[in-house]
Amino acid sequence: MFHSAALKLTGWYLLIVMSLSVGLSAVIYHISSSDLGRDARRQVAYFNGFLGPEDLENYAQLKQNQLEADRNHIKNRLVVFNLIILAGGGIASYALARRTLEPIEQSLETQKRFTADASHELRTPLTAIQTETEVALRDPKLSKARAKELLASNLEEVAKLRQLSEALLRLANGSQQPEMKPVSIKAVADDAVARNAKVAKARKIAISNDVPAVEATGDKESLVELVSILLDNAIKYSQPGNKITLSGGKHGKTTRLSVTDKGIGIQAHDLPYIFDRFYRADTSRSKLKADGYGLGLALAKQLAELHEGSIEVKSIPGKGSTFTLSLPNV
Ligand code: ADP
Repeated sequence: MFHSAALKLTGWYLLIVMSLSVGLSAVIYHISSSDLGRDARRQVAYFNGFLGPEDLENYAQLKQNQLEADRNHIKNRLVVFNLIILAGGGIASYALARRTLEPIEQSLETQKRFTADASHELRTPLTAIQTETEVALRDPKLSKARAKELLASNLEEVAKLRQLSEALLRLANGSQQPEMKPVSIKAVADDAVARNAKVAKARKIAISNDVPAVEATGDKESLVELVSILLDNAIKYSQPGNKITLSGGKHGKTTRLSVTDKGIGIQAHDLPYIFDRFYRADTSRSKLKADGYGLGLALAKQLAELHEGSIEVKSIPGKGSTFTLSLPNV
């Protein structure tokens, strides 16, 4: 599809280039040929007083032949010039067309991969629900207790599916520019901690919020969502009893907010990919079972970029990780 689009675009570019070149050549030919004609007529008129009628006619004929030859010469040169433009313009137009289409092709490719990954992720819990329900329906001796157990398990899968579809929706809507206003990073951290307090308590993880009351530029709701993702991960990837610290402050032109955990850490070979959609590092060695779809950090990164900010990560496997969000100052 992109090959034929590139050829079509090449055709259009070439049409524009050739229209200009042929048009310009026609103008050049017209001006030069009328200049030559005027010169020839002037020269014949000059000899009008010196030569007899027969000689004058011969001279005029000679001039006319010369004029035709000169005009042909100009015409040939312009044809060669246009052929060179056609060949060079064709190559340049094709290169330009490919360059124009490349980002579109890439974004379409990313979109395709995203849709394929998303449907793959959706299929797994859906298949689990379907199989469990089918098996239960076929069992004539299905007890009430077993049916309840099954419904609870299906409900768990449905909750996960809802989480996934919400994350997908947020990623898809993510290009909406947030409203940029001065916002206290302490208030952002407080709200994010409040959102995650229940889960942290359940996992016996203490959160210390040391973020100072300084201001950055951004949309509070989006920033709370972003810090919540980092905090949620810090809780998920920590062992019970570990501590999480939120800190921050001004650093040159940026305001930073860091989430530090003493959890399982991230292997160096995973670090370059953890912000990719659907990427999940292998955590089996840590014996830690953490649910997720690998969309959290992709969403966090997207939110940071919409704020003209960035997220940096430092991690030591087995010792813990620090995710630092940098935002533009007020
Ligand atoms: P999810 O947590 O749903 O798997 P994320 O996009 O939030 O997806 O994170 C991607 C991966 O990065 C995780 O699967 C995990 O391996 C790793 N990761 C993220 N945060 C941490 C953290 N604080 N400590 C250890 N690993 C982390």
